[in-house]
Amino acid sequence: MKKQGLVSLLVILFCSVFSIVCKVADSENRNTEVKNAADAITATARQANVIFNAQRAFTILEKQCEFGPRPTGSVAHSETQNYLFTELQKYTNSVVLQPHTHTTETGTLHLNNILAEFGPGGAPVTGQGQNGETILLAAHWDTRPFADHDPKPENRDKPILGANDGASGVAVLLEIARVFKEYPPPRRVIIVLFDGEDYGRSTDNMFIGSRFFARNLGKWKPDYGILLDMVGDKDLTLPIERYSWNANRAFAEAIWHRASTLGLAPFQQRLGNAIMDDHVPLIKAGIPMVNIIDFDYPYWHTIEDTVDKCSPKSLEVVATLVISIVYDGL
Ligand SMILES: [Zn+2]
Repeated sequence: MKKQGLVSLLVILFCSVFSIVCKVADSENRNTEVKNAADAITATARQANVIFNAQRAFTILEKQCEFGPRPTGSVAHSETQNYLFTELQKYTNSVVLQPHTHTTETGTLHLNNILAEFGPGGAPVTGQGQNGETILLAAHWDTRPFADHDPKPENRDKPILGANDGASGVAVLLEIARVFKEYPPPRRVIIVLFDGEDYGRSTDNMFIGSRFFARNLGKWKPDYGILLDMVGDKDLTLPIERYSWNANRAFAEAIWHRASTLGLAPFQQRLGNAIMDDHVPLIKAGIPMVNIIDFDYPYWHTIEDTVDKCSPKSLEVVATLVISIVYDGL
């Protein structure tokens, strides 16, 4: 992902401040809501959250890192693809690759998004939301081929391990997929792992998989979606991502409000940066998307983006929110 320039952000600064003032005025109500969080979600959502195993999710993060850096086109990338595909197959019969190509100045890339579908049926569900909708849950599974933000110039052509930037979102979604096997979601859920998010030095060669997906929605078209990126940081801070808020303010605020209701403190009730990421092509395709991302991460695009910077607890915090939305709707 890439941080947006500051100029256009000033335009909405006033609106942001106004919004935050309103939120402070609302804080008394929110405190009551947090106390009642246990009553705010259904029994199924609570059970699903218990099934989610943060340590197991962290092991999935570690496993991806054991393959080494996983830039698109590398051997480790191919090995990781097989691992992710095989894991998802344990939890649903509906897993497919979405192959596509992308031509750069130096050649043609062969990429694969990995898609898995889950839905009602088989097990008892008690979701309260509309059952006809489809939710997209997304993360990117490739890692950046060069540590271009490393403080040491000699490291800037080395590939990053991507423990947080890549593996963390995938880890949460794979563990949630296991939860879906035990408690089928009451609405259709598409998990998509995007390829080629972090490939290029310019945005022309980034977000490749998500742009392809957004151009070919077809039967995968969701009603709304959540993107997870860089959600493993031990010091997790999750303000509202600004592109998400700009595109669909009510939707973004509803999700952060749910986090508040659940007492998930890392979700901060304030606007953060606008981050170019895989949600933007989908927003442009008309899909309400939020990007849950911790961009306050000193190791971003450095060779220090390693497992020790991440924690199971952070993965669990994000999973708790996602599970609540999947089972109870918005
Ligand atoms: Zn990145």
